[in-house]
Amino acid sequence: MTALQTVIDAVDKRLFIDGKWVDAAGRATFDVIDPATGEVLCAVADANPADGMAALQAAVDAQAEFAATPPRARADMLMAAFELLHAAVDDLARLMTLEMGKPLAESRGEIAYAAEFFRHFAEEATRIDGGYQTAPAGGSRFLVARQPVGPCLLVTPWNFPMAMGTRKLGPAIAAGCTSVIKPAHQTPLSMLALMGILEEAGVPAGAVNCVTTARAGAVMEPMIRSGLARKLSFTGSTRVGRVLLEQCAQKVLRTSLELGGNAPFLVFADADLDEAVDGAIAAKMRNMGEACTAANRIYVHASVIDEFGRRLAERMAALTVGCGTDDGVQVGPLIDAAALRKVAALVDDAVGRGARVLTGGSPTGGAGFFYPPTVLTHVARDAKMAGEEIFGPVAPLTPFETEQEVIAAANDTEYGLVAYVFTNDLRRALRVAEALETGMVGLNQGVVSNPAAPFGGVKQSGLGREGGAVGIDEFLETKYIGIALT
Ligand code: NAP
Repeated sequence: MTALQTVIDAVDKRLFIDGKWVDAAGRATFDVIDPATGEVLCAVADANPADGMAALQAAVDAQAEFAATPPRARADMLMAAFELLHAAVDDLARLMTLEMGKPLAESRGEIAYAAEFFRHFAEEATRIDGGYQTAPAGGSRFLVARQPVGPCLLVTPWNFPMAMGTRKLGPAIAAGCTSVIKPAHQTPLSMLALMGILEEAGVPAGAVNCVTTARAGAVMEPMIRSGLARKLSFTGSTRVGRVLLEQCAQKVLRTSLELGGNAPFLVFADADLDEAVDGAIAAKMRNMGEACTAANRIYVHASVIDEFGRRLAERMAALTVGCGTDDGVQVGPLIDAAALRKVAALVDDAVGRGARVLTGGSPTGGAGFFYPPTVLTHVARDAKMAGEEIFGPVAPLTPFETEQEVIAAANDTEYGLVAYVFTNDLRRALRVAEALETGMVGLNQGVVSNPAAPFGGVKQSGLGREGGAVGIDEFLETKYIGIALT
């Protein structure tokens, strides 16, 4: 048996409900595919709507007791899970690479990033505060307490199979909320492995439940519409986010949405070009470009676009593409055949509208869903890729002349997650950062994600923030108690 097979075999592939591992109704399963080969890795439980409701009921039943646990006890659970994630990083990274495709080094990085949400929220769990205030007219007093929202539904995407889960479970556990988590059907194994870790870390039965399914809509909708849950936290596409927001409206659920992005990456003439190329590689190539934060439109001042393009293409062409579990691989496959077709079609469209290919530009071919690192220059502003997430290793460069013009172009999108700005002019940096309609800005840096910082978008990139000091607020309600003193 290979080491890779061993890590798959070690995961319980059933549903995790009320602290027990159980089969889905009718012992139904669906297949998990290795995107590097297109072959089946294993089968996992395929929940039906009744399984989903059973998980939600377990969360509802556990809520009152879990909310009453001492904050320190919840912090200890999260710290134990943090340690366990680090102890298992090698196996967890292999598992993630097998189901999702990213190179092992990136999977290891994601496990560390994911664990950090547990440490961060372990620290926040014991700092949930309130207030006591004299009413402006005197006499009575205001007592302000914060309480867990209640049972939560957590839905996560495939691109960061572990971190998108811990970014929700960390604050939910810290706040004293129970939950049902549903990972993406492409990447259920990392989340199932995490359930084993939470169990070992002492999270009580029912406090966290996990439902895997190939029928996301059919399973989630009754849970959302039941009104038994008090909150939905969703990370995924804007398209699905809109559907869920409508479903949540009926029972007025608290809703946090981390949705798609279309990040502009601005390189001004006064930028350090090497630093900007480093930033572009980081912002573009993390996760093979399959990130909501990926640089999607790279605007470069006309006076430096040729030199920037040359340096970026040289670096991109030198990246090693291959199966993520192989040594030295820097770029793995895309998630599935549909993703590969989409990236290829977007590149063909851009080239058809006059873009020039500096490197890459067509699928690698063979087994697996590989697309090579690609740099396109002079991409038209009306190219399809300027309007939607590429979600692949394609860097489209477009020239600009003035600051005003590039700010208008950057903001010309319904998305508003993150933007990147490269300039050495302090006044310009702050002016542009303030003018960009995004929830986050990377100033002379190509990565913004940090568990201790508030992550999230404006416009149709989402509602609410994850991480940072405010991340726990999404899982807390504020209760005001008016007190008569006389
Ligand atoms: P997706 O298709 O929206 O799926 C996300 C999750 O929603 C998956 O678990 C999916 O399950 C589930 N889902 C799909 N349809 C549903 C429905 N009708 N009801 C309930 N759940 C449903 O997105 P994806 O392709 O997995 O992920 C990529 C997207 O996520 C990109 O748009 C990316 O920008 C975004 N993203 C955003 C952030 C952020 O923080 N802003 C972070 C990471 C990713 P199935 O997989 O089983 O369909």
